[in-house]
Amino acid sequence: MDRVYNFAAGPAVLPLEVLLRIQKDFPVYQNTGMSVLEMSHRSAMFEEIAAQAEALFRELLNIPDNYCVLFVQGGATMQFSMVPLNLMRRSKKANYVVTGEFAQKAAQEAQKFGSATVTASSADRQYAYIPNLSMSSFDHDADYVHITLNNTIYGTRFPSLPDTGEIPLVADMSSCILSEVVDVSRFGLIYAGAQKNIGPSGLCLVAIRKDLVGFAPASAPVLLDYRTYADHASLYNTPPTFAIYVAKLLFEWLKSKGGVEGIETVNREKAAILYDFLDESSLFQGTADREFRSFMNATFVLLNENLTAAFLSEASAAGFVNLKGHRAVGGIRASLYNAMPVEGIVSLVDFMKRFEAAHKSR
Ligand SMILES: *Cc1c(COP(=O)(O)O)cnc(C)c1O
Repeated sequence: MDRVYNFAAGPAVLPLEVLLRIQKDFPVYQNTGMSVLEMSHRSAMFEEIAAQAEALFRELLNIPDNYCVLFVQGGATMQFSMVPLNLMRRSKKANYVVTGEFAQKAAQEAQKFGSATVTASSADRQYAYIPNLSMSSFDHDADYVHITLNNTIYGTRFPSLPDTGEIPLVADMSSCILSEVVDVSRFGLIYAGAQKNIGPSGLCLVAIRKDLVGFAPASAPVLLDYRTYADHASLYNTPPTFAIYVAKLLFEWLKSKGGVEGIETVNREKAAILYDFLDESSLFQGTADREFRSFMNATFVLLNENLTAAFLSEASAAGFVNLKGHRAVGGIRASLYNAMPVEGIVSLVDFMKRFEAAHKSR
């Protein structure tokens, strides 16, 4: 069977070049005589893979030297617990901006650790927008402010970062990491589950400003303390070795595509092709407010809802799969992650045009 255009929200499409490289290296990695799967995490070869992965991630995101990069397990969701456990260090107050379901889950989890308050929310309009934020939105003594930079389910993104002054800004970047240029120095901590723009699920990448490490309570489980990862180069226990290896390959691929700046240009082009069509279509309509539209997850509906099921099944038969919207919202969602080529969007829009024309004439 040929490869399809996979618009899944995550785990998601990976570049074919990366998959073929994994295949080629799989039974025997370089001169080791073994697969990466069989390699000790303490071996010189694996340590080199991990060091390269970290170095490439730092280079691609231009991460300053006063930040630690950590490879953690438990996906993005474990960060919903680790962030408050480690960063509620003075007032034990944190402010959450709730712009979707993941943000809501993060805020709810944080309430177990201290006073996590929702300082702004867009729940009133199905999370179709990003609330307006200013310094007065936040408690002056909050230990941190948490945002979700790109909202995977609702298809919105922060067009600019809120000013939090001296309060560390924490961002869940799971579905937009490495998709557009960000200034990491604006954040106290960023984290991203790997399965959207990086590689295998389960792995989560964290970049944390060094002065924020070391404040977990003594009772904190060792694997939930950022210091454990920072002090042991993320090798305190056996890390997800194969996932880190795939991440390294993905980073090399991204570098060959002009890095984050290069891919941002492509991502903006892909998003424009789809949104321009949605804006002129009389059958399909975008659900997020224009100024907050995500480059990574485009959400839309068919104005004739009766056609949604037919659209999904015809699209799937034509090789455009996983377009069904999240179960919480319905409709359609096309995820346009880094590994989705421009041709994938052009072909999808062609298909949507044909579908629209066919259903107009009936
Ligand atoms: C996918 C996603 C998560 C959840 O990631 P897991 O790895 O399943 O824990 C959290 N936040 C955002 C923004 C996501 O897109």
